[in-house]
Amino acid sequence: SAKWLKDNINDKNIVIVDCRFNLMDKEYGKKSYEKGHIKGAKRVDIETELSSIVKKHGGRHPLPSVKELKNTFENIGISNDSVVISYDEGDLAGASRLWWILKYLGHEKAYVLDGGLEAFKELGGEISTENEKSNKGKLDISIQEHMKVLKFGGTSVGSVKSILSLKRIVENEAKKQSVVVVVSALGGITDKLLQTSQLALKGDEQWKVEFEAMVDRHHKMIDTIITDTTDRENLFKSVDALFEQLKSIYFGVYLIHDLSEKTQDAIVSYGERLSSKIVATLIRGAKWFDSRNFIKTERKNGKGKHVLDSELTNKLVKEAFAEIPRISLVPGFISRDKNTDRTTNLGRGGSDYTAAIIAAALDAEVLEIWTDVDGFMTADPRVIKSAYTINELSYVEAMELCNFGAKVIYPPTIYPVCVKNIPIKVKKAFSPNDMPSACMMKTIDST
Ligand code: ADP
Ligand code: ASP
Ligand code: MG
Repeated sequence: SAKWLKDNINDKNIVIVDCRFNLMDKEYGKKSYEKGHIKGAKRVDIETELSSIVKKHGGRHPLPSVKELKNTFENIGISNDSVVISYDEGDLAGASRLWWILKYLGHEKAYVLDGGLEAFKELGGEISTENEKSNKGKLDISIQEHMKVLKFGGTSVGSVKSILSLKRIVENEAKKQSVVVVVSALGGITDKLLQTSQLALKGDEQWKVEFEAMVDRHHKMIDTIITDTTDRENLFKSVDALFEQLKSIYFGVYLIHDLSEKTQDAIVSYGERLSSKIVATLIRGAKWFDSRNFIKTERKNGKGKHVLDSELTNKLVKEAFAEIPRISLVPGFISRDKNTDRTTNLGRGGSDYTAAIIAAALDAEVLEIWTDVDGFMTADPRVIKSAYTINELSYVEAMELCNFGAKVIYPPTIYPVCVKNIPIKVKKAFSPNDMPSACMMKTIDST
């Protein structure tokens, strides 16, 4: 209250913030502040510094990022343990905005001055016209900005039509919050990569034909979907550099008649490395990440299968996304051995897993699996025509269905998001309105 503030006005731990503003007059807040404000109060410009964080409504100003907000608040001396009192003319428009933004950032001691400046004046509180100085605060912010992880499988990056629909979906979602997009190889490419390596191993010249067909398919895709000439040329350069390497590897296999697991893993990684580059170019402003830098596997006792080192991976994912770009693009499936640095992968269908790992590490709102079916179904619709979509099922039920062969989701995917209670939605990437029936997986109370 005004009385409390008057009594505690000299408390060093209190930061008073003048939030007056007027939509019609940009200078109003500044002028009012200069004319007289509560002693010691700092000013924030609601219109420019704290504008339209309500993302649903769009807004006229670009949204301040969490980092920008942190800066603004630290500059006026707000630390984690500061008591922040915001005020305006009692209309609450500005003061409550500051209050809820601080709450949203996880700050605990934010209050709005009851009755605003008038109430304070009435009590004879001290007014000043000085430009108040402040010591820089130290504000550690615990929350992540809202974000989603969207995974697009080979079925959604297979054709020109589907990849354009992917672009539309991603750009639409990115208007609402940050998105991390995980993509698989172009549909069917993973199989081709593996088959071609077998041909090369057998010394069958046909490997070259198959290889050229893959090059051709990627080239055609780029030619059709990337219209900007500079973008296209740059993309061709990076894609061709990858194909160059891949060809050399195949040639090695062909000459030496040897295909080690290590070589196989190297070969199969090209599918996602290529597709992710293409999609990153297609979606303007997307930032490409090499998932091998943060998805880390190990071999227990140096033998057996590659398994995820979740602790290390979690830490690295958080570091890589300490600041989440509006749109991030990540190749699914591929990883690196934490000891030897060789390229590994998470197993067939593993892009779902990549997406789940990232969603869990970053506390995503939701993990969306975009594919070619209308959600999680009672059975494989390719086999059982009467299969229908299950609207809601628990993680445990989903895990059972997956273990019994529901290949719509790669089984290990469910665990990391289940632990964090992040819902998984399975959506159909190119139903006409992009508003497919979804299936959520919540932890259903077992009692
Ligand atoms: P993506 O390339 O998008 O990862 P997948 O082919 O791996 O796609 O998975 C989607 C396919 O999973 C569907 O086309 C469907 O045939 C199959 N499927 C198997 N079981 C189920 C199920 N219970 N519900 C939905 N789809 C299923
Ligand atoms: N491209 C890989 C595969 O076909 C991974 C994936 O699609 O999830 O298995
Ligand atoms: Mg899949």
